[in-house]
Amino acid sequence: MQINTDGLVIRENAVGENDRVITILTKDYGILRAFANGAKRMKSRSQCATQLLSYSRFSIYRGRNSCTVNEAQTIEIFFKLREDIERLSLAQYFCELAGELTPETEEAESYLKLMLNSLHFLANETRPQLLLKALTELRMLCLSGYMPDLTACETCGKFEDTVMYFDRDNGRLFCSDCNTQGVSAGMGVVTAMRHICYSDPVKLYAFTLPDESLMQLSQITQSYLLTHVQRKFKTLDFYNSLTAKK
Ligand SMILES: [Zn+2]
Repeated sequence: MQINTDGLVIRENAVGENDRVITILTKDYGILRAFANGAKRMKSRSQCATQLLSYSRFSIYRGRNSCTVNEAQTIEIFFKLREDIERLSLAQYFCELAGELTPETEEAESYLKLMLNSLHFLANETRPQLLLKALTELRMLCLSGYMPDLTACETCGKFEDTVMYFDRDNGRLFCSDCNTQGVSAGMGVVTAMRHICYSDPVKLYAFTLPDESLMQLSQITQSYLLTHVQRKFKTLDFYNSLTAKK
């Protein structure tokens, strides 16, 4: 069967001398793995379109056991990400995250849009890295069924407090009177988390936080993610090792 869909290449693996298997986050079929057969022999246009971080229009043959890319045309390449190791490694972490959380064989337009927007802002440096990291982590968790309940204190229903506490194991919020085990989050961080979880996709990237709060936000979303996904991300460890040296 022949399928046509737009997608972002989130992983590439060499197979033998000439072939590669690429993992594509597609709009219509979720995560899809396909041979980019004889990529070196392919027309250069298709070769470029099947590289990591290329967003392309794919024409794919779907056989009984495997898929093969027939043709691919680049829509966007995010060239600027390759200029900087830090931004590139964060982009690769987003890719690893998408590979883990996006469903297979179902449509995944919301995941794809999230990835494309985050990569766009990351490539153009129009949003701080930590904002993009926290937003991508938490929003993707929401899409895949791990949305925390941040409406109010779980026990007393208080909406605001000087400091609130986030219980990452259960994805619940507590005020300072009711907290027993959560990590503290300033009101700015709580508001940002609410925004990331509940806002309309169009307004998703429209918020700011001071650097210190961004750091706290990023630590909270990362630990919430790792608690629920229960695996390590090599790309995240690498990104953190780069930024820790600063
Ligand atoms: Zn309370």
